[in-house]
Amino acid sequence: MEVTMKKIIAAKQIHTLSPEMPTCKYMVIEDGWIVDLLDELPIQDESDCEIISYSDHYIYPSFNDSHMHLVGYGAYLSQLRLDHTKSIAELKERLNQYTQSCEDDLIVGRSWNQDEFLEKRLPTRFDLDEVCDDRPVILYRVCGHIAVVNSFALKHYSINKDLVVAGGMIDVEDGVLTGILRENALSLVSRSAELEDIKKYILNAQKQLNAYGITSVQTDDLIMVSKERHEALLALFREMSHKNMLTVRIYQQSQFFTVENFQKHIDLGYVQNSGDLFFKYGPLKILADGSLGARTAKLKSHYHDDPNAQGLLIHSENEVLKLMECAFENNIDVAIHGIGDYTIQFAVDAIKSLATKYPRQDARNAIVHCQIMDHKLMREMGTHNISALVQPVFLEYDMTIVKNRVGESLAKTSYAYKSMLNYGIKLGFGSDAPVEDPNPFRSLYYAITRKRPDGLEYYTDESVTFDEALRAFTVDAAYFSHEDHFKGRLLKKHLADFIVTREDLRQIKPMELLNVRPTATYVGGVCVYEEKVM
Ligand SMILES: [Zn+2]
Repeated sequence: MEVTMKKIIAAKQIHTLSPEMPTCKYMVIEDGWIVDLLDELPIQDESDCEIISYSDHYIYPSFNDSHMHLVGYGAYLSQLRLDHTKSIAELKERLNQYTQSCEDDLIVGRSWNQDEFLEKRLPTRFDLDEVCDDRPVILYRVCGHIAVVNSFALKHYSINKDLVVAGGMIDVEDGVLTGILRENALSLVSRSAELEDIKKYILNAQKQLNAYGITSVQTDDLIMVSKERHEALLALFREMSHKNMLTVRIYQQSQFFTVENFQKHIDLGYVQNSGDLFFKYGPLKILADGSLGARTAKLKSHYHDDPNAQGLLIHSENEVLKLMECAFENNIDVAIHGIGDYTIQFAVDAIKSLATKYPRQDARNAIVHCQIMDHKLMREMGTHNISALVQPVFLEYDMTIVKNRVGESLAKTSYAYKSMLNYGIKLGFGSDAPVEDPNPFRSLYYAITRKRPDGLEYYTDESVTFDEALRAFTVDAAYFSHEDHFKGRLLKKHLADFIVTREDLRQIKPMELLNVRPTATYVGGVCVYEEKVM
């Protein structure tokens, strides 16, 4: 990323997201910042100014994904993707194509599902050997709890049929290893990512994000390495920013796991919002409960479709409280992963009492996901200025399970974005990539319609307007990184981060959003993505 001289961007219409001047035609940019917005072309000396014309296009602020995993998404992109593979023959064909273009000494693939295979059986090492027998191949099932590896990998990782792994299984049939590894047996072939690889993942991820019109991410990445290497990973981000290698602005939602580790990083200089415009330290992220799909999100009552399940907390309540208190003492916000209503209530109560003990005017604490809710919880969150980082695209799948999991009456007040806004809860939209594809236009579509293209819908009276959805992906998302006064709108003294689109997003039918892609994306006035014209 290099900062350049003065530029004038001309467009059919520039949507600023400011009520004082909602639209204009010209935007003047200097050193990455917007210095003027006009309806008439300003008179200027041509020699020191570049004019870029998008006269039949529209301009909007670019997107800010308020919760994702940048490194994990990059890793996902760089591996062989096997989702929607229809047969073992197709799996082999895809593996074959991939190995021919990939020079890595290890092949990793993801997301196959034998239920979708014509053959309705698990793949074996012999299937993989037919395609690749000169380096290890590891292909994970969609759930990530099972993998198939080739014979080279079995030998390479010294896996034999007599090996016993606690909490894991190595499949053997008729005295022969099949190549299937389950649960903890996967630890035999897993390796923690090297910083060189992570650098590649970040570069890959940001390229795809820019193509989607995303220029800011709030991302939880420390989970990719062991505690001992947290500082090394933070240093890598700092270095990439200093070397102008970043084209997305990164706000790190740091998961430090233990109070000791968190305190160690505070002592090393972890001050929230310190950094530069491309990499800043963010809030303390805490993973409090599990997921709705697996019935591990902790509910106040038992699961509607399983009276024996109530979900669970990942850490003890005491551990979570200690971590939170450490954050509050050090003026660091908290972003707490909470999906079940028990967990969300617990987090809200804790934030309320800690905020009394450690009052701070500009605290921006949030619940990440914030799915199973009732009116009382929403009212409390609104009253106590606790925000929600939500993923509207989750509705696509979750609308098929929520009523079963929690029953009709609780389902109605869950994912209830309109009510949340009415209670005064600030919303930041995001994708949780690589859990979901980070395409923000899909999230906009689901927030506005709450309807799947196949007709299934979910409490459509909780739909938000296009403008409300766009704010949650731009200026309101920037609120959580304390940057909404200079990011997320196209105003004077704001960052020149924007997208160029063929369609006027505000005018098209919501369904059309699913097919929108920016024709160009700018970060700090520099074009970082441009659509290839066929
Ligand atoms: Zn996440």
